[in-house]
Amino acid sequence: MTAKALTPSTLYLVATPIGNLEDITLRALRVLKECSLVAAEDTRHTGLLLRHFEISKPLISCHHFNEAKRSERILSELATGASIALVTDAGTPGISDPGERVVKAVIKAGFRVEPVPGPCALIAALTASGLHTDEFHFAGFLPHKSGQRLRRLRELALIPGTLALYESPYRVEKLMGELDVVFPEQRVVVARELTKKFEQFLRGTPRSLIEHFQKHPPKGEFVVLVERSGEEGKIETASMPSGEAQATCG
Ligand code: SAM
Repeated sequence: MTAKALTPSTLYLVATPIGNLEDITLRALRVLKECSLVAAEDTRHTGLLLRHFEISKPLISCHHFNEAKRSERILSELATGASIALVTDAGTPGISDPGERVVKAVIKAGFRVEPVPGPCALIAALTASGLHTDEFHFAGFLPHKSGQRLRRLRELALIPGTLALYESPYRVEKLMGELDVVFPEQRVVVARELTKKFEQFLRGTPRSLIEHFQKHPPKGEFVVLVERSGEEGKIETASMPSGEAQATCG
């Protein structure tokens, strides 16, 4: 299919790289070049991305704290026939990022929403994890408070399919401790710094990953996956090298 001109009065959800700038798609670049306006989570961050690709475009901010109000501005622009690209700092808008509210408002007002698919940390981690990909449950970030986190993990333990979580470097070790309580025998894959120079997949039990992080304090961005297929997902501890997580580095 050849490229067609952008459709007026349309909100384009444009996925952007999660680390490696080569991951921008040809279509994302064309939409960013041809749209009337870019709505960005952080205009400074997206300004740098646009400059890298020699694109100059009016930018407005659209982040978690102004998304509801910003939707009104986006609707009024769409009403004049504008085509608007919505981008976040990295990855796919709406996935643990602003987007959902704007999309709902745009659909409700009767305008078009068009996805421009591309990088997403969840999908990159899951597909390379070696865990089941046919059924998975993405729960984003856990709450911050300890009691709520354990309660949430226990609820998630009732849901079948590989469990996928996002986590910050400040809480990933804590998360391994919580997984050790709720999923002590399950296979866990920690995907770190995806698409970047120090991309790494760590595989092991929660306990072996705690030991890993005690020796190598966590740095960077993390996706955490937990195998959830009953007996099959449980690690045969005898096959694990001396209780240490297995790290494969890219
Ligand atoms: N919308 C994004 C997406 O499509 O993946 C996710 C945005 S969310 C605010 C950011 C979180 O995604 C990070 O804290 C981390 O858990 C995960 N993440 C983003 N980039 C990553 C990367 N390069 N490697 C590992 N995890 C990443």
